[in-house]
Amino acid sequence: MKLKELSALTARVTASEKMPVLFLGHGSPMNAIEENEFVAGFRKTGKELPRPNAILVVSAHWETRGTFVTAMQNPKTIHDFGGFPKALFEVQYPAPGSPELAQETKNTIKKTEVGLDHSWGLDHGAWSVVKHLYPNADIPVIQMSIDHYQTPKYHYELAKELAALREKGVLIIGSGNMVHNLRMVAWDKLNTPDFAFDWALEASDKMKQAILNGDHNQLINFSAQGSAFQLAIPTPEHFLPLLYALALKAENEPVSLFNDKALGGSLTMTSVKIGGA
Ligand code: ZN
Repeated sequence: MKLKELSALTARVTASEKMPVLFLGHGSPMNAIEENEFVAGFRKTGKELPRPNAILVVSAHWETRGTFVTAMQNPKTIHDFGGFPKALFEVQYPAPGSPELAQETKNTIKKTEVGLDHSWGLDHGAWSVVKHLYPNADIPVIQMSIDHYQTPKYHYELAKELAALREKGVLIIGSGNMVHNLRMVAWDKLNTPDFAFDWALEASDKMKQAILNGDHNQLINFSAQGSAFQLAIPTPEHFLPLLYALALKAENEPVSLFNDKALGGSLTMTSVKIGGA
């Protein structure tokens, strides 16, 4: 068999393989340039995945009225934060976009009219983590926004419509943090490994149990799960990307956790991989 034929065959096999789905706890934007165990976890996960044809990220940091996908050829790297070192503002993640995938996503989703966006780009919820999965920035990345005005159940159902993209080699990533209460961060304990307040630990344990048991309803109804959940999810935007990932789990698909650590008392970096080996 000639090399060219072999690579065509590989491409076919890759294209028919169902891509895993990820939820990534992105944490501080500094993870983009720091070396730590979380970054190592992202990198390891990236190496375990089949090489995707393209990536679609639902980031906590892009909330809109209605649902949009980025449709530009070359999305800019957005530095959507303040008070960090200059080195972080200098990071560029020049992955191409994919107007084709944007259009295909729009066509795939029936629940709402998805808008094609030409002004956003890649926010840090996307690039600070995708950078570690694919450091060469050679895989096209698009983002899909979170409609701020919709319910968790709406997001979960909308996400289900993305399932067909998995069969086309698209890696779908939800990027947020399961436990995310910035007001309550114990700044003096940021360097204490795995430090979590009791409520954060309680919420985190219940979330993980629900994820591993496939009890998605408990997570969709997070606002009815008591005070620990209310403290863990003071606003929904960092939690909703988890629902996007979970909605894509097919029956009997394996689910595993990684980067399963707390940070500063009121954050967890816990990340989820659905499908794959
Ligand atoms: Zn964030």
